[in-house]
Amino acid sequence: MTKNEAIPTVLPVYNRIDLVFERGEGAWLYTNDGRKFLDFASGIAVTGLGHAHPHLVETLQKQAARVWHVSNLFRIDPLERLADRLVANSFAETVFACNSGAEAMEACIKMARRFQWARGQQRRNRIITFEGSFHGRTMATISAAGETRLTEGFAPLLDGFDRVPFGDHDAVRAAITEETAAIMIEPVQGEGGIRPVPKECLQGLRELCDEHDLLLIFDEVQCGMGRTGKLFAHQLSGVTPDIMGSAKGLGGGFPIGACLATARAASGMTTSTHGSTFGGNPLASAVANAVLDVMLEDGFLDRVVERGRYLARKLETLAGTFPGVIAGTRGEGLMLGIKCIAPHLELSAKLRENGLLSVPAADNIVRLLPPMTISEEEIDIAIDMIGESCRAMTT
Ligand SMILES: *Cc1c(COP(=O)(O)O)cnc(C)c1O
Repeated sequence: MTKNEAIPTVLPVYNRIDLVFERGEGAWLYTNDGRKFLDFASGIAVTGLGHAHPHLVETLQKQAARVWHVSNLFRIDPLERLADRLVANSFAETVFACNSGAEAMEACIKMARRFQWARGQQRRNRIITFEGSFHGRTMATISAAGETRLTEGFAPLLDGFDRVPFGDHDAVRAAITEETAAIMIEPVQGEGGIRPVPKECLQGLRELCDEHDLLLIFDEVQCGMGRTGKLFAHQLSGVTPDIMGSAKGLGGGFPIGACLATARAASGMTTSTHGSTFGGNPLASAVANAVLDVMLEDGFLDRVVERGRYLARKLETLAGTFPGVIAGTRGEGLMLGIKCIAPHLELSAKLRENGLLSVPAADNIVRLLPPMTISEEEIDIAIDMIGESCRAMTT
């Protein structure tokens, strides 16, 4: 059979940048043709501890020589340890492990519906979501986000989501009906352009949920796992959810996701109601435990706050120097966005030319997501690269 070679063997759903990395170390990536890049993309907020972190490499190698996978038909020691530690360090009382962010959010959605169903509120099956949000690429999660760029051509979408404008508390209140089960939100929108939800807004959502007996779901797939200087972003606000999705940074680059919940919110999820073949397997759980070993060390999160402030301050100075390129900066900790004046893809490409990797986001934002192990010296190098790029775009 002759093959049509017009289509790449890798399905072209990504517009890939022509760089092939063969090695990474800390904040640096090295290409197969001898170039070196400072990685402020971190695989989209995934390799939060940098590349080839010795403790992660050692843990993975040890576990790989022991046992990779046994299925969830059996008890899994590293998974139990991981769940215990996530519970000890968050609002949660129980954890379901899966393999990605979208799956984590699917579990959150199913849990919220099932909670209402199990307490006899079958009509309550709708979830309020926000414009500009991103929850993954499965049918449920694109339906939840409802952005045309995600949903076009994929109808019929999943019913049961009511979308309101970002930051419009009155619209949320107005959207609540007898059929509402939950409100779902990213405490800091990632793909939407590093938009932190103000503390008062999260408090307001918590109050609405309590008043109407709804569950509050936080999507911390991107903003969680240390990024903001807290293990989870909502801990900055003191507002706790009932259910939360985590992934990305959780495995430091090894695929793992998790749905964390209170006992009450999880009460509908009895035996056989949900599952995952790979979810929380020994290899994935061992690596996630190694990530926690590092993040829970004394001073780690304080250092994220400190480095975040340092980077933000330097960016503000650059914004002052290049007002024709940078409109401003925003974000929390080491989850920062540069609001561009020129097209953000232009700045992102220019940064890459100068050796710095970044991630574009909506709202003309260039995201800076350095590894949380970044040094001040490396931040200074990045700032020089950004300054050089801005200068090139000014002339
Ligand atoms: C990346 C992301 C997801 C989806 O995660 P995948 O691992 O790509 O499925 C969900 N929610 C948020 C906020 C994300 O940033």
